[in-house]
Amino acid sequence: MRVARVRDACQRGIELTVRPVFQPIVELASGRIQAYEALSRLTDDKGSVVRPDDAFAAAEAGGYAAALDVLAIRAIASEAVRRLPPGARLFVNVSPATLLTCRHALKPLQPLADRVVLEITERRPIGRDEEQKFLRTLDALRSIGYRLAIDDLGDGYASLGRMLTLRPEYVKLGQSLVGDVEADPRRMAMVGSMVHFGARSGTTLVAEGIETQACYETLRGLGVELGQGYLFARPSPEFGGGGPPGGGGWGPGPGGAGAPGEGDDGRQER
Ligand code: C2E
Ligand code: MG
Ligand code: MG
Repeated sequence: MRVARVRDACQRGIELTVRPVFQPIVELASGRIQAYEALSRLTDDKGSVVRPDDAFAAAEAGGYAAALDVLAIRAIASEAVRRLPPGARLFVNVSPATLLTCRHALKPLQPLADRVVLEITERRPIGRDEEQKFLRTLDALRSIGYRLAIDDLGDGYASLGRMLTLRPEYVKLGQSLVGDVEADPRRMAMVGSMVHFGARSGTTLVAEGIETQACYETLRGLGVELGQGYLFARPSPEFGGGGPPGGGGWGPGPGGAGAPGEGDDGRQER
């Protein structure tokens, strides 16, 4: 497995090792794998695991998001260009700061551009003066084949208004909308209205963090098209995962929640 290293100079003067893992995104109606989300796993120079959320948030706050994204994308592309299964798309997280200041970070993904969906997470709002440049950049990326997703709708700064300005091909519903949806009529109503919006606007919905059969069945019943979560498969260095839809359920077994992957703390089990 190739690794990439970045010097986390702004924070602690340590070196980070970055390694990609991939989590399947399945069509809820059929159970077929349509795509994989690439996620980075980081360790420091003592071999301790660094939480991705913390690392990418710190990078953005410290002004070195692009440096970390460059390393992550290089590591992801070195695996995906060779091994992404035919027909599957690849969802790749990227910070707005990287798109604004360092578009060449995406270069290693260029051979896959028309299969890549760039997931944009806004951890803080983009300044007004940069908004037009940001929108022009997204248009330029679309013109060379990339598609766009808003990540974590319902969490943080991923607001409804962003779906109007960014016109993403995909919207990912975050944990705050998906978690316990089966037990909460208001969440159900909100997800249902997003399904309606998606159908009217040509936006594909992806529900994140599906952990239980009840959650899966509720989202499928509401008409959400795609989903990902531990119920189907945990992120893994391999492009694997998947399992039977409905019927026998996704429980433990090949590709199910008990399949080889990683523990809750992000460490690999193998
Ligand atoms: P995200 O992009 O929203 O990724 C989804 C997170 O949910 C991942 O956490 C994934 O492992 C986790 N997850 C997947 N299924 C389930 C589930 O069923 N239940 C629960 N509770 N969690 C689930 P992870 O890998 O720790 O990443 C956290 C965040 O760090 C990501 O959130 C993303 O914002 C950021 N990140 C990770 N890798 C990269 C990267 O390569 N580039 C950038 N820019 N950000 C990254
Ligand atoms: Mg994401
Ligand atoms: Mg997300």
